[in-house]
Amino acid sequence: MLKAIAIKLAAIAAIVACFVLLPFPWCWVGAGASLALGLGVMAWAVFNVNSSIWARTLWRSPVPVKAVALTFDDGPDPDFTPRVLDLLKEKDVQAAFFCVGARVRQHPALAKRIAQEGHTLGNHSDTHAMWINFSLHGKLRREVRDCNAAIEAAVGLQPCLYRAPHGFKNPALGDVLRQEGMVAVGWQVRGFDAVVNNAARIAQRIVESAKPGGVILLHDGAGLQGTSDRNATLEALPVVIDGLRARGLEIVPLEALLGVKVYAQG
Ligand SMILES: [Zn+2]
Repeated sequence: MLKAIAIKLAAIAAIVACFVLLPFPWCWVGAGASLALGLGVMAWAVFNVNSSIWARTLWRSPVPVKAVALTFDDGPDPDFTPRVLDLLKEKDVQAAFFCVGARVRQHPALAKRIAQEGHTLGNHSDTHAMWINFSLHGKLRREVRDCNAAIEAAVGLQPCLYRAPHGFKNPALGDVLRQEGMVAVGWQVRGFDAVVNNAARIAQRIVESAKPGGVILLHDGAGLQGTSDRNATLEALPVVIDGLRARGLEIVPLEALLGVKVYAQG
């Protein structure tokens, strides 16, 4: 929140300076440009999924590695999560699942299976509602805490990694995550599998665009946004894993890639 205040003060100072220092009509041109720049920086920080301006955000390895990490959002889902888990087991891959709290309460056994099979659980808000990204401290804190409580009730662990719905972050979120001892996770590449229902395109995009050290985003949950079926993701997943390995990229757990702890208890 302090950064937001600093940007607003800098913009106001620039506008005042324009009126003091510049003759008419350039004072109005300068003031308009200063206002647009201030608003532009603030909006960029909200919509850039990997920006750390509002909330500290991790999205790639801090050191050079020939490895990547797979992450799945929006589950757990009774139709698709078990099939994603089966595929990951078959390919001997550990991934991270950013779960929606309401869905964990509906399917606690699935959350338990994710943890039991060695995967990581992260917080993806409690409701995944669109308004979360534009909420202030109270509502954001409830979203983060309620999701963590649902995951803790299911698996006995309290996540400290958060992925914002749609990746958007506002200044209040940064405050809430800091107070909760949590950090945001973005992504280096995504398959757009929430909106693209074509396995070949999803796989090609990820295999070709993944960079060493990058976090990869896919979805195991259905119906929250875009297409309501994850069959294309399931079809793409083995191709993605084989394609990344063929490029010499090892697929490692998210915590190993980012070098952070993933649970408050850890
Ligand atoms: Zn999501």
